[in-house]
Amino acid sequence: MEWEPIIGLEVHIKLNSPNKLFCKCRNTQEFDQTQPNTHVCPTCMWQPGWLPQVNLEPLQKGILLGLALGCKINHKSLFDRKSYFYPDLPMGYQITQEKVPLNVEWEVEFWTDNYTVKRKVRINNAHLEADAGKMIHEDGKAYIDFNRSGTPLVEIVTYPDFRWADEVVDFLKELQRRVKYNNIGYADLEKGQMRVDVNISVRKKWEQKYRTRVEVKNMNSFGAIKRAIDYEIKRQIEIWENWWEVDQETRWWDDIAWESYVMRSKENALDYRYFPDPDLPPLVVSQDLINEVSQKLAKSGTQRIEEMLDQWFNKEYINAILGNFEISDLFEALVKEGFEPKFVAKWIMNAIIRFMKQNQTYELPFGLEDFKEVLRLLKEGKLLESQAKIVFFEMASEGKNPQQIIQEKGFKPVDQGEILSWVQEALEANPQAVEQFKQGDQKVIWFLIGQVMKKSQGKADPKLVRELILKQLS
Ligand SMILES: [Zn+2]
Repeated sequence: MEWEPIIGLEVHIKLNSPNKLFCKCRNTQEFDQTQPNTHVCPTCMWQPGWLPQVNLEPLQKGILLGLALGCKINHKSLFDRKSYFYPDLPMGYQITQEKVPLNVEWEVEFWTDNYTVKRKVRINNAHLEADAGKMIHEDGKAYIDFNRSGTPLVEIVTYPDFRWADEVVDFLKELQRRVKYNNIGYADLEKGQMRVDVNISVRKKWEQKYRTRVEVKNMNSFGAIKRAIDYEIKRQIEIWENWWEVDQETRWWDDIAWESYVMRSKENALDYRYFPDPDLPPLVVSQDLINEVSQKLAKSGTQRIEEMLDQWFNKEYINAILGNFEISDLFEALVKEGFEPKFVAKWIMNAIIRFMKQNQTYELPFGLEDFKEVLRLLKEGKLLESQAKIVFFEMASEGKNPQQIIQEKGFKPVDQGEILSWVQEALEANPQAVEQFKQGDQKVIWFLIGQVMKKSQGKADPKLVRELILKQLS
C-alpha cells in the first residue's frame, strides 16, 4: 500500500491518590457508585477566593508515572490555565501544565505483534492536570456532579510515531500495565480511568510533510480504539483518493454503529488562551523526592515479557501472567524467592487461573505466603503433586492455611526407606513380572509401580517409585 498512517496519542490517566489534586476532598474512582456532589468543597467547585494547593500524593504518583515511562522529571514545572466555558467548569478554565510540564521527553519500549517485535514510541510530555466535573443528561435535563472536579490526572502526549492500530493497542496495554504495577491508578477504559484521544493523518509513503490530522475521541475499550483507528485511516484514504481534502476536525466514535461523526470542525476549534496560573507558584520537585519516589518503581511489562521470552514462555503463558497485575506481581515475587519460572508459571496457569475462571473472580483468595508454602512443600518433596493440588483448591475455596489442610487430610511425607521396602515386597511378590521385565518387556513396570502405590495407599511419589524399581532391577 502506498499510504502510510501517522498516529499520535493523548492519554489521560486518572491517579488513585486518596485526595484530589488541590484540596482535601476524596478522590472518588467510580462516580456512578457515589452520591453526586458529596465529595466537594469551595476549592474544587472553583469558588472565587479559594486558593488551590498541590497535595503530595498525587504529585508523587505523577512523578512515579513519569519515571515509569522513563521521562526526565523537571525540578521546576508550571501550572497554566486552559480557558474554555462549560457548565462543569464554573471558573471557565482548567488547571493544567502547558509550557513547562512535570515530566518530559523520553521513549518507551513495548512489545508488539504477539511479542515478536519490540518498538519504541517517543513521549513528548506527561503533565499533571485537574479534571472537570461531570455532566449527566437524564430525561431531557442536565445535571452536574462535581465529585470528579479537581481529581488528579496525568495527560501523556506522544509523538506521532505509531503506524498501525495494533501498535497503538499494544502500547496502551503496556502503559496500562505500568500504571497498575506501580499502583498509580486503575486505568480501566470502561470506567473512564484511562481516556484515549487519537490523532490520525495519512500520507503517501514518500512524502516528508504531514497531511491534515483528525482527532478521534470516545473509545471505551481496546477493541473500540482499534476499530476507530482502522475506520479513520480508511475514511481519510478514500477522501484523498477521490481528490477531496480531509478537514481538520474532532470526530466522535460511535462503537455501536462502528463509525464516527464530526464533533467540532476547524472553524469552531477552541483557542484555549493558555496563561500561567497566578494562584499557583512554580511546582518545585527536589531530587530527594524523586529519589524517594523512584524506590517504588516496579519492573515494567516490557522487561517482564523479555524475561519470559528468555525462558521460552509461549504466548499463552505470557498473556495469562500479564493479564492480571496481581498475578504478574505474584509471579515476580516467587521467581525472586528462587522458584524456577516455568514451575511457577505452570502452577499459576493450572491452579490459580483455573480457579479464577471457575469461580469468575479476579481476586486472589489467599495470601502470597500460603501459596509460597504449598510450592515450597512440593519442591522439598513433602507434598506430592496430587496432594498439593488438593491443598491449593481447599486453600483457595475455603480460606484455610496449607498446614491446617495437610493436618486434616493426614498428608505425611513418606520416607524413602519405607518406599524402598514396599518396592522390595512388590518385587518379591511378583517374580513373573520381574522376569518379564528382564526379558525386555518395558511396559510391565507400570504394573509394578501400581503394586507399590497400592501398598503406599497413594502416598508415594510415582516418579520416585519408578526410579527405585529401576535401580532394584538393574
Ligand atoms: Zn474539594
